[in-house]
Amino acid sequence: MISKNFIKNYNIPMIFVLSLLPLICIIGIPLYIYYNGLVWQEPVIFIIGWFLAGLGITMGYHRLFAHKTFKAKPVFEWILMLFGSMALQNTIIKWCSDHRTHHQSLDTNKDPYSIKKGFFHAHIGWIFKKENNYKANNVSDLEKKSAIKFQNKYYWQVAIFLSFILPLLIGLLYNRPIGGLLWGGFLRVTLVHHGTFFINSLCHFLGKKDYELNTTAKDSWFMAFFTFGEGYHNYHHKFQWDYRNGIKWYNYDPGKWIIKFLSLFNITHSLKKASNYSIIKAKADTLNMKIEIMSKELYFYHIYENKIKLITENITKNLNSWKNLELKYKLFKKIEITKRIKKNYQQKEKLYKFEIQKSLSALMVLSVNIKSLI
Ligand SMILES: [Zn+2]
Ligand SMILES: [Zn+2]
Repeated sequence: MISKNFIKNYNIPMIFVLSLLPLICIIGIPLYIYYNGLVWQEPVIFIIGWFLAGLGITMGYHRLFAHKTFKAKPVFEWILMLFGSMALQNTIIKWCSDHRTHHQSLDTNKDPYSIKKGFFHAHIGWIFKKENNYKANNVSDLEKKSAIKFQNKYYWQVAIFLSFILPLLIGLLYNRPIGGLLWGGFLRVTLVHHGTFFINSLCHFLGKKDYELNTTAKDSWFMAFFTFGEGYHNYHHKFQWDYRNGIKWYNYDPGKWIIKFLSLFNITHSLKKASNYSIIKAKADTLNMKIEIMSKELYFYHIYENKIKLITENITKNLNSWKNLELKYKLFKKIEITKRIKKNYQQKEKLYKFEIQKSLSALMVLSVNIKSLI
C-alpha cells in the first residue's frame, strides 16, 4: 500500500508515465519486431526525431533561452521551441527557471536537481516529487518572446502531437502506424529524456574538473556523445554564457557546430565566447588548487615546492602580460585597429599562450608525479 505521506509528497501520475515509457519500449519493441519484423523507416524516424528533439533542448532550451549564449532570428526561436517541445520536458519557461536555479544555487539545498541529494534524485527523482521549484522572477526576460507565449498556451497539444501523433501518422504512410509510434514516439522520447537527465546525474558524477574545482560538475568526452555535446559540464558551469560546451575543434558538440554554421547566414548572431585568456587562467588556477590540496598529503612536498613556485610565477607573469595586452587592444578597438596593431597583438598573444601552455604542461607532469607518490 502506498502511504499517505508518499501520495502527499510525490507526483503519482508523473511516476506512472515516466516508468511506463521505458517499459513500453523494453517490452513493446522486441514483441513488435518478433511478430512484424523490422523495416528501415523505423530506425530512421527514431534517429531523426532523437536528433531534432535533442538539439531543441541543447541549442534551444539550454543555450539560447536559459543562458542566452547567442541570439537568433524569431523564426529560428520558433523552430527550436517546436523541436524542444518534442522532448516532453515541460515548457521553456519552467525548464529555464529550474535550470537557472541549478546554476545559481549549485550543490545547495535550493538546487532542484542537486547531486548532493543522491544520484537518483539528480537523475529523475526530483521530477517525481511534488516540489515546485519554478520561480517566475528568474525567467521574466523570456516571457515576451512570441514562440514562448505560444508554447505556454498550447504546450500539451504541440508536445503530444509532435511526440506521438506525428510518428503514428508517418507510420501510416508505410502501413505500420504502431511501428512508427513505438520507434519515433516511445523509444525516441525515452532516450531523449534519459540523455538530458544524464546531464544532471552522470555529468555531476563522472569525469574531470579542469576549469573549476569547487563544484560537482565534471567534463567527460564520453558523456558528450549521449548528451549532444553537453558532457563538457565542468567547462559549462564555469563559463555558462559561452555558446560552446566542448571548446576544442574536435570535441563532439553538434550544437556548437550548428550555431556557428547558422551564424554565417545571420540566422544566429551575437555568439558569446570566453576569451582564451580566461579559459587558460581558469585551467591554471584549477591545477594550482589541485596541487595545493595534494601537497598537504605529501610529507616530502618541499622537494617540489621551489620548482612549482617558479613555474607558477612564470604562468602568473605571462597571464598578467597577456591581460595587459588585451586591455590595450580593447582600447585600440575603440579608436581604430591598423593591420600592424592586429599583427603585433596576435604575435604577442601567441607567445604568451605558448609560454603558459609550456608551464602548464610542466605543472601537469609534476602533479601526476605527486599524485603517484600519495
Ligand atoms: Zn549542471
Ligand atoms: Zn546550463
